[in-house]
Amino acid sequence: MFDNLSQRLGQVVKNLRGQGRLTEANIQDALREVRVALLEADVALPVVRDFIAKVKEKAAGQEVMQSLTPGQMLIGIVHGELTALMGDQAAPLSFASQPPAVFLMAGLQGAGKTTTCGKLAAPIRERGKKKILMVSCDVYRPAAIEQLRTVAGQAEADFFPSAPDQKPLDIARAALDHAKRHFHDVLIVDTAGRLHVDAAMMQEIKELHAALNPVETLFVVDAMQGQDAVNTAKAFNDALPLTGVVLTKLDGDARGGAALSVRHITGKPIKFAGIGEKLSGIEVFHPERMASRILGMGDVLSLIEEARKSVDHAEAMKTVQKLKSGKGFDLDDFKAQIQQMKKMGGLSSLVDKLPGAGQLQSGDLAQGEKQMQRIEGIINAMTPQERRKPELIKASRKRRIATGSGVQVQDVNRLLNQFEQAQKMMKSLGKGGLSKMMRGMKGMMPGMR
Ligand code: GDP
Ligand code: MG
Repeated sequence: MFDNLSQRLGQVVKNLRGQGRLTEANIQDALREVRVALLEADVALPVVRDFIAKVKEKAAGQEVMQSLTPGQMLIGIVHGELTALMGDQAAPLSFASQPPAVFLMAGLQGAGKTTTCGKLAAPIRERGKKKILMVSCDVYRPAAIEQLRTVAGQAEADFFPSAPDQKPLDIARAALDHAKRHFHDVLIVDTAGRLHVDAAMMQEIKELHAALNPVETLFVVDAMQGQDAVNTAKAFNDALPLTGVVLTKLDGDARGGAALSVRHITGKPIKFAGIGEKLSGIEVFHPERMASRILGMGDVLSLIEEARKSVDHAEAMKTVQKLKSGKGFDLDDFKAQIQQMKKMGGLSSLVDKLPGAGQLQSGDLAQGEKQMQRIEGIINAMTPQERRKPELIKASRKRRIATGSGVQVQDVNRLLNQFEQAQKMMKSLGKGGLSKMMRGMKGMMPGMR
């Protein structure tokens, strides 16, 4: 998908080539083209308007970095805003309820609800072994219940049988009762869709919602629907307290409008993307990656990244992941960070910006470089266990490490102090999530915005 949009945006960059800097006039021209590109991709008009206004505001205040052209600069801004438009960060499923955690699926007929019921089993199990029960409240199409039975079988989930002559509400209540009594962790409730939004369907799903009190009410929407997807999303969002959106058929040739509009219109995160008919055809929706895919300009984006002094995003992600998983920032991470800084060049200026590295600053680059090497050497002389748990390093270990790396014990002490301060910083940043951390890292590096 997104091919047209990507091409269009590529053209914007080309047109800006050769221009020395971003001016009022060339921003204006470029934004007009971005606007057309978005409209052609079927992005809803109010969304386009907001988007353009934001990009404009950012671009106006932006100096062009020396190593970037205005076009690249603008793409950087567009990339950031696309990411923000789609929700910034991936949004995980919630299980925060007394078991069973009920997931209610809502959406039009053919959107992919039943298929998604099965697809969700994998991401649910990622959170630990969970006992899943599935039930269909789609009593209108004879094959619908059987379809879910098959899906449940493939997904290795339990299936609660229902029949076309039952009332959806009765089915839901019975399934919930069954799930409670059989200690299921999760109950996934499939519902009937209609071809179009109609009052009866909305009434029914509202009643189901009231009876089930679901922890997740997922709106499933077909990305190929373009503008219609937006209208449907609005209708469902008005009727139900949706907790998230599943965008299906992103593997098709949709133009991308739904992906770009639905978050903005509903204010609800896109949690998953459907990318195929099979049960494995699902992925967690990552706004940042999606924005990169849309822009389809790996080269330009990486150039921008480089210009931002090559903070290794993946490394940073890994660290954040670590912090989140409670494993903490250890000496291996510290070493990785130092190697990162080595890569970034401007060594001495970076060294003195290392938290608590006042002592490290010796004025000239060669000194700084030597220090870095020494730190690495000291860390290398530690055992893996010591790196993970620096608190183990008491006097005798310190002597061993100092001897092993050819330094004095006081050098080891100094390193451990510096590490402790870095760890404190990482902890406080970790709480604010990645964006805060990236901002924090940027603050440490001259020339970054
Ligand atoms: P429901 O009416 O909302 O329950 O929709 P279904 O789950 O029955 O799906 C309708 C059709 O869309 C089926 O043929 C599915 O195989 C197909 N489908 C669902 N999700 C995806 C997806 O992510 N990609 C593709 N290519 N097809 C999908
Ligand atoms: Mg169905």
